[in-house]
Amino acid sequence: MRQSKLFTKARREAPADEVSKNAQLLVRAGYVHKEMAGVYSYLPLGRRVLENIERIVREEMDAIGGQEIRMAILHPSEPWKQTGAWDSVDVVFRIASRTEKEYTVGQSEEEIVTPIAREYLASYKDLPVAIYQIGQKYRDELRAKSGIMRGREFTMKDMYSFHETQEDFDRFYAVVKEAYLKIYACLGLVAKATEASGGAFTTKLSYEFMVLTDAGEDDILYCNHCSYCVNAEISAQKEDDACTRCTKGSLARAKASEVGNIFDLGTKYAKDFSFTYKDKGGKDQYPIMGCFGIGISRLMGVMAETFSDEKGLVWPESAAPFAVHLVALGRDGGDDISKASDALYEELRRAGVDVLYDDRPLSAGEKFAESDLLGIPKRIVVGKEAVATDVFEVVERKTGTVAKVPRKNLIVS
Ligand code: ATP
Ligand code: MG
Repeated sequence: MRQSKLFTKARREAPADEVSKNAQLLVRAGYVHKEMAGVYSYLPLGRRVLENIERIVREEMDAIGGQEIRMAILHPSEPWKQTGAWDSVDVVFRIASRTEKEYTVGQSEEEIVTPIAREYLASYKDLPVAIYQIGQKYRDELRAKSGIMRGREFTMKDMYSFHETQEDFDRFYAVVKEAYLKIYACLGLVAKATEASGGAFTTKLSYEFMVLTDAGEDDILYCNHCSYCVNAEISAQKEDDACTRCTKGSLARAKASEVGNIFDLGTKYAKDFSFTYKDKGGKDQYPIMGCFGIGISRLMGVMAETFSDEKGLVWPESAAPFAVHLVALGRDGGDDISKASDALYEELRRAGVDVLYDDRPLSAGEKFAESDLLGIPKRIVVGKEAVATDVFEVVERKTGTVAKVPRKNLIVS
């Protein structure tokens, strides 16, 4: 895409109303637009990042047999009253209507997915099943100072699974855990699978996936030797205690952000909605249910926090809005530099490279500063020397390393 056509513009100054680094950078660079605390619109660059994260998550969920659906966002209040969440879950929005009915909007969707599953899963032959969606969630959060990391509206992947036996649930739980670790690794993040309590309605253990970052709202204790990690809020253990799992290491304490979690919901929701299936002997049984969330937009925020420096954002290739930032140092569009960069832009596009082309008549200094702020992994510079020699400067955003690359190698390099 030509940057002269991109309707967003980077700003020199950080927005005065943002305290978090992720929002400051993302607003400045034109990735997101703040509507109010905890609610953002995603602009062309931001939407591309979000969709890259969604694509990676979707591929992994499909690979483990998840079936994607899209549930309603506006919900009747009845199922929420049936499970007790209407009265007990503080973040549920309760919406009055002129029809005198009450509604809510999805904050998690056990209340919607369980009746859907009940409709179709009548026999043990229909199980196991995993259903997921990627979409907006709405929560009446008190604190919304973490930019896109804590939204009142945010994007989540939520998957729900239904099983005949605890063993089958446990098998799938382990499969999802591995898929999650793969997703985070693909985004360049190290997420620790952290033991936590089981959430609102269950006393079972769950895993939260935590990425170490000072911008996180959670405190974790993790072993400096093995992969053991626990949420400090619920644990009797403290910093420097010996690790109870490997007994070799000791526990360090750190701030972290929860980028996903997986729960064993047991038969709570099946019972609430009288959802039974016929087992092999023809007897009615409640399925065991799991719920598996990933904070898609929070992940983008964590990435902005983690992958940034004093100059701006530094996206890994897997999530970057474009693979290449082509920066032309021509001034009026008709000069040799502009012609050479136009030609290179077309060539890169024909080769299937996702390229943002800065074709605007700005100074080299302004263009480079903005390019650094946007954080596209690779920058190709077209200046006088490149036109004369057909050798181009290729700058890696992450390291600042400059390579001189002959034109014929540009497409593959
Ligand atoms: P938190 O403790 O941070 O409030 P949670 O336990 O309420 O999270 P879940 O209900 O399990 O979170 O939601 C699944 C995932 O959605 C979380 O792991 C997190 O990554 C993300 N998430 C939850 N709340 C928000 C929010 N307000 N804004 C952005 N992402 C969120
Ligand atoms: Mg919460």
